[in-house]
Amino acid sequence: MVMDFLVPSTPETKENARAPWRILIVDDDPDVHEVTKIAVSGCRFEDREFELLHALSAAEARDILRRNTDIAVALVDVVMESDTAGLGLVNWIRSELENPFTRLILRTGQPGYAPQADVIMKFDIDGYAEKAELSRTKLITAIVTALRGYKLVTSLEANRQKLKQLNEQFSKIVEQNAVSEFAAAVVDFFEDLVGQPVDCFLCGPEALSDYGYTNRSDIRILAATGIFENMVELPVDLLSDHTVRKSVSQCISDRAAHNSEDGVALPLVTRKGMTGALFIGLPEDRIDELVGTEVVQLFVSNVALGYEKTALLEHIRDLAYVDRATGLSTYSGFVEVFQRHCLNEGPLLVVHADIQRFGVVVDGIGDEKASAVLWRAGQRLSQTFPDALTIARKEKDEFLILLKGGDENKVQDIVARVEEAFQEPITLDDTQITLRMRLGFAPTGSEIREPEQLVRFASIALNDVRQKGLTNHAVFHPMMQEAALERLRLASMLTGATDKTEFFLNFQPIMAASDESIASFETLMRFRTPSGSLLNTARMIEAAEASGLISEIGAWMFKNAFKEFSQFSGLSESVRLNVNLSPRQVQTNRIYKDIEDAASAASLPLDRLVFEVTEGLFINNDQVTLSLLTWLRNKGAKIVIDDFGTGYSSFSYLRKLPVDGIKIDRSFIMNMDQDPDALAVVKSIIAVAKALDLSVTAEGVETVAQRGIMQDLQCDYLQGFLYSRPLSSADLARFIQEVPSQGFQFG
Ligand code: C2E
Ligand code: CA
Ligand code: CA
Repeated sequence: MVMDFLVPSTPETKENARAPWRILIVDDDPDVHEVTKIAVSGCRFEDREFELLHALSAAEARDILRRNTDIAVALVDVVMESDTAGLGLVNWIRSELENPFTRLILRTGQPGYAPQADVIMKFDIDGYAEKAELSRTKLITAIVTALRGYKLVTSLEANRQKLKQLNEQFSKIVEQNAVSEFAAAVVDFFEDLVGQPVDCFLCGPEALSDYGYTNRSDIRILAATGIFENMVELPVDLLSDHTVRKSVSQCISDRAAHNSEDGVALPLVTRKGMTGALFIGLPEDRIDELVGTEVVQLFVSNVALGYEKTALLEHIRDLAYVDRATGLSTYSGFVEVFQRHCLNEGPLLVVHADIQRFGVVVDGIGDEKASAVLWRAGQRLSQTFPDALTIARKEKDEFLILLKGGDENKVQDIVARVEEAFQEPITLDDTQITLRMRLGFAPTGSEIREPEQLVRFASIALNDVRQKGLTNHAVFHPMMQEAALERLRLASMLTGATDKTEFFLNFQPIMAASDESIASFETLMRFRTPSGSLLNTARMIEAAEASGLISEIGAWMFKNAFKEFSQFSGLSESVRLNVNLSPRQVQTNRIYKDIEDAASAASLPLDRLVFEVTEGLFINNDQVTLSLLTWLRNKGAKIVIDDFGTGYSSFSYLRKLPVDGIKIDRSFIMNMDQDPDALAVVKSIIAVAKALDLSVTAEGVETVAQRGIMQDLQCDYLQGFLYSRPLSSADLARFIQEVPSQGFQFG
């Protein structure tokens, strides 16, 4: 029988030869060294050669042992400098050098020097022989036996060290936040544990499923080293290496280790039943040699536990950071992302978006469908902005988008992208819903880098859009904040109830241009503080709009205006009452009832009314507005467009709208006599209005000259300080007595 350790080395195996076994010969007889050298020459054990080190005395041996910690076997002569030099050395190795690993074989030249049994026990001696007895085979057998012993004790020690490393360092790995980070730390740590580069990967589902069931296609490579490194995120079923793929999938389906020529796949089984695997690209015996099977098993079960814990934490965080209604981020998530990017990156842009009149959508299609619409709206946003750092739902139908770059030039591009994204209606079963988004922008400034503050600024900009109702977006400007603060102050005065801030009404006559008789009165709200001073009406109305109080105030206004007007005496039946409607008021359902109730309480037919609305109301051509206006006209009321010329001024739409006339904005009338452009605009407005059969009113007529121009241009009605300031109904009584009234002659 040929012993494996006697096979001579070949150059081929030498190439990837591993470090030789180091064997120390301690003997004061140089011949013994020579004989031993010849005896072991060409020997191998487990594919490793033998390397001999030589010491001619115990002292020299001490020196060598001190400097070389990897001596596997020492063949020690008992009698050297002294009769007990050999035993002294052995004692020193174990007790002073504290080396329990090196295997020791004692040799004596003559019988009678055999060590006592207790010495053999005490110093953990592997063998004893008389030199004469040691034939070549016996010597080699003794050495190989000792090497086996050495291998065993050192690998036990290595295992112990690895276990220690595992215990000490694994807890840090489990502190990772995300499954992907955890997996990366696991494979890195495994390489550390092996102590050399390995091709390995960890695979499993990226997220914890609520039911413990994992789809095969969800099992992906989470982290990898070596040749697998660029396969991270690849589903394991798509691994190109057939053997590895088969091995891993077998391991996962059996939940048991699977060996192949390419390596070992070890299962990760968690209590949730979530399964993954650790694939190690080394043969089993090599893994055992490098790390130890027990250590690897312990490692894998730690990984499974850690994996479960990390996935669970991630899941819990998801609950806090993923909005259930849209699948987008939550506000908390948004704040976190903002803070993360704010520190190390350049300027950011916060976009606060909402869906115009989402409340109406909900009323129209019901909560369930509205939720589906909201989800789809969120998805459209996230498809539209793949470049966003995050997209969150703030509340109700409000979204936040965080983009890189505070450049205001990006605003137009973003607006265009959103418009394009919502061009197509959202289809739900048989319902088609077209959504319009409104956007408020706030870029980070040098001093403003707090998420809450930026979001507030974006909200202020969005509020500005909501109030003005003219455009679908605005960029925050500090003046908006002042205006917002002012609105807040005013709104709190409004809420402070009627007994504190007094509401009352003024009426301003509107005259027929041809004969300067009274055609109508415009109702204008007045607000007086407890101290008696009057507040700016336009701003109070804006505040009422912003705070949502406009409907309350509107209802009050209808009731009182209709009542006071119906009590004016001496007016022709065709004299009308003009009332202003603001955009927000028009959007509510209660307005129908408010108007009807007020009219019937005052016994005022609706055909005595003219409603003034602004152009902004029509930009979106929405059904709610159109239905209200149509309803009013069917009841005999008239509709005029207020402040005409300041908004969109597109004549083309005038033809299609349910309106009876226009009021040219005061700014044109004011400048008409000095500014030829203003005059030209007024002329063309009148021409087009005439062509469309719309009545024309000029507001803000203050001078005789202005009146002259308007009369020449065939303007129908004139309103302004030239005739009268807005007056209380008591003061109006005199005016009515003095001026004839002919009323409005529409169409
Ligand atoms: P508006 O509808 O454009 O009303 C005309 C404004 O011009 C009034 O300001 C009026 O006092 C002023 N005015 C009239 N003639 C002249 C003139 O010859 N010269 C000058 N310089 N100004 C003139 P006021 O009363 O401050 O109202 C401001 C705005 O508040 C109104 O603008 C209207 O949009 C809104 N508003 C007033 N009352 C109500 C209301 O009851 N409901 C709603 N929704 N809005 C109202
Ligand atoms: Ca008006
Ligand atoms: Ca006006």
